[in-house]
Amino acid sequence: MLIQTLKDTIRDIPDFPKPGIIFKDITPILENNTLCGQITDEFALQLGSKSIDAIVGIESRGFLFGFLLAQKLRKPFILVRKAGKLPGETVSTEYALEYGTAKIEMHTGSIRKGWNVLIHDDLLATGGTCCAAAELVQMQGGHVAGFSFVVELDFLKGKERISKYSTYVNSLIHY
Ligand code: AMP
Repeated sequence: MLIQTLKDTIRDIPDFPKPGIIFKDITPILENNTLCGQITDEFALQLGSKSIDAIVGIESRGFLFGFLLAQKLRKPFILVRKAGKLPGETVSTEYALEYGTAKIEMHTGSIRKGWNVLIHDDLLATGGTCCAAAELVQMQGGHVAGFSFVVELDFLKGKERISKYSTYVNSLIHY
């Protein structure tokens, strides 16, 4: 039921941001309060009794349900942002893109040593961004407890890449 509603709500935008990419636009979900609540509840339900100390959300669409889930679980929410956006002292890591590299950052001291951290983004594609976020968690002494996504693009095999950090990967829908 939830899966079908999600599939009916997410919009495919062909050739965005460049030719050949089918962009999965989750913005119509945000216009539906009931659906947003159901998504947050489902993430929480699927975590079950898993011990989570904090949730890391990846800029920018990972902030949406990442923050709602953190509020529901009453856990700290920590931002991973593109380089140069966070005002305080940061840890950073660079990772490869199709062309060139990207750098992401997290505020130093946000994660305590030994914390079990769930990493959240709207969509798992190749997994490059999540691997970089996992590195930031580990650099701070955190343990990657798992990953959660609204959408996973199975054919890009991102799960294989991120599973070296945690085999707990919860995606609500798959394409
Ligand atoms: P990746 O590092 O390849 O797993 O890319 C993940 C990031 O890129 C996520 O933050 C997504 O929001 C975004 N992304 C990649 N591919 C798509 C797509 N087809 N539709 C929407 N967002 C995408």
